Amino acid sequence: MDVDALVMGVLAGDARAVARAISLVEDGRAELPALSAGIYASTGTAATVGLTGAPGVGKSTLAGALVRVARAAGRRVAVLAVDPTSPYTGGALLGDRVRMQEHATDPDVFIRSMATRGHLGGMALAAPEAVRILDAAGYDLVVVETVGVGQAEVDVAAATDTALVVLAPGLGDAVQMAKAGILEVADVFVVNKADRPGAADVERELQQMLQLGATHEWEPPVLTTSAIEPEGVEELWVAVERHRAWLVDSGTLDAKRTARLLREVEALAAERFKLATAEALEAGGDVATRLLERSVDPYAAADALLGRIAPQE
Ligand code: GDP
Repeated sequence: MDVDALVMGVLAGDARAVARAISLVEDGRAELPALSAGIYASTGTAATVGLTGAPGVGKSTLAGALVRVARAAGRRVAVLAVDPTSPYTGGALLGDRVRMQEHATDPDVFIRSMATRGHLGGMALAAPEAVRILDAAGYDLVVVETVGVGQAEVDVAAATDTALVVLAPGLGDAVQMAKAGILEVADVFVVNKADRPGAADVERELQQMLQLGATHEWEPPVLTTSAIEPEGVEELWVAVERHRAWLVDSGTLDAKRTARLLREVEALAAERFKLATAEALEAGGDVATRLLERSVDPYAAADALLGRIAPQE
């Protein structure tokens, strides 16, 4: 694969190059480091927004509605629907694409589902690289939608600048969200399906949970929407913009980004280290025999292994 051409395509905002680059990330291809090196300097301008919540709360519908509002504001928008736990792109995510069809012919909208097939670090490492590809391709807004509320989804949500946590009557109550640790990463709460009975109860319950929590510099607002109408989506967009302005003005944006980039570097290094350890163990064939013979103990064997991986300078 010609990575230089791919990088040029991405930087030129060519949708097909972007799609190929994201596939490369999904598959964890060997060209990944070269791709990353080629695009990294051109990243950092996109606003990233996460959409997390239990299946069925209306994340995809809301994403579609947000795209509409952002387009009206003149933004180029990308939506990345990620399934952190599944190696396959499931039916739900394909359904999302169908629901997004009104944007299908808009060259300034890019919609893509993503799963991890080969990326060693799983979605927690694949998603940020995919987001950077979209960023480098010139999308001003990148919406990252996840499928559920497990730990992996929380990680992906925490990797965006503004994390929206979506609830709806009868689906994924606030207590469940608190257990999943999702309340802490939320920058904006959305109670969707406001047209349904019970929405006011969800909102009240959420407000009570939030009062129990510590106060932060940024107090996450609770908005209500009806994504299918759509109603309240403009207000949601305003809240997202307000959060972004606060991030920039308070210097939090850089701090947040630096922290997560360092976490990413740590995770990448750990993955490589694990791989190198396994390889070194395999290469040093007689370790098992020596352990069995009692001619080397596990600590000394580990030291010898480390010496082989990272020779002293
Ligand atoms: P996701 O699984 O969180 O992405 O949820 P979807 O966007 O797929 O929506 C699940 C179902 O809820 C679909 O049938 C939507 O049409 C419906 N839905 C989404 N938003 C609303 C809403 O605001 N009100 C009502 N009544 N239904 C909605």
